[in-house]
Amino acid sequence: MTRALILGGTADASLLAAAIARAGIAAVYSYGGRTRAPADQPLPTRIGGFGGVVGLADYIHREAITHVIDATHPFAAEISRNAVAACAETGTPLIALERAPWDKSPVDNWIEVADVNAAVAALPESPARVFLAIGRQHIAPFATRPQHTYTLRFVDPPEAPLPFAADVIVSRGPFTLDRELEMMRARGIAWIVARNSGGDGARAKIDAARALGLPVIMISRPELPERQRIESVAGIMQWLGHRICLGA
Ligand code: NAP
Repeated sequence: MTRALILGGTADASLLAAAIARAGIAAVYSYGGRTRAPADQPLPTRIGGFGGVVGLADYIHREAITHVIDATHPFAAEISRNAVAACAETGTPLIALERAPWDKSPVDNWIEVADVNAAVAALPESPARVFLAIGRQHIAPFATRPQHTYTLRFVDPPEAPLPFAADVIVSRGPFTLDRELEMMRARGIAWIVARNSGGDGARAKIDAARALGLPVIMISRPELPERQRIESVAGIMQWLGHRICLGA
């Protein structure tokens, strides 16, 4: 009997959880525990790390998991690597629900970099207002460029002091193009630092940057081991052996 484990924490993972619940497939939804009040899921939910590859392999065994779906954020590289290793160890089929990265259009002004440190180095020397559209755990290296005024946006208010003074917006997406334009205009944002997450939920800031002709320092996705990937919830349902009904 199928019993799926969804490694979640993204909007796509929530869509998948809804489809799996609707189809009546047994599954567990797993949150990493980074967000204080994660969205409710229509499936049994667990929260927090498994304890590396060994812990995840143990969990798969203990809970008689037959399929693992990695629907984590494309930058959540550790859990994705652990899933590849634990599934190989336990012989459990694994698939990633992964949206395509955003493509740069000819009118975009992107500086593509490999990681956060390269993003810091790509900022201009002269003081600028910078929207750092990256998670709070990645902002510390920007303290080395204190001449800039940084705007940060988090889902939860920061619990610990930030590594530098910043303008903090607390808000949960998705954000519309109009809201992003308004936010960027109101603050006089001149540079954006973003990660190439792909998908529609986080794309409005990229569209706003394009509309305003602003440069975007775009951090590329981390390299991950080879694994089966699919972009749609419908594709995952098929992989689970569920027949798709039109309109479902
Ligand atoms: P990460 O660096 O890949 O993971 C760090 C550790 O957190 C993992 O080794 C694992 O701990 C635990 N973990 C992460 N995701 C988990 C999950 N879904 N279920 C159980 N344990 C999980 O990932 P992260 O950047 O901390 O992201 C954590 C979660 O937030 C992910 O579910 C991700 O989808 C979501 N999220 C991340 C981002 C982002 O930008 N990174 C953005 C939006 C949402 P153990 O080794 O102990 O198992």
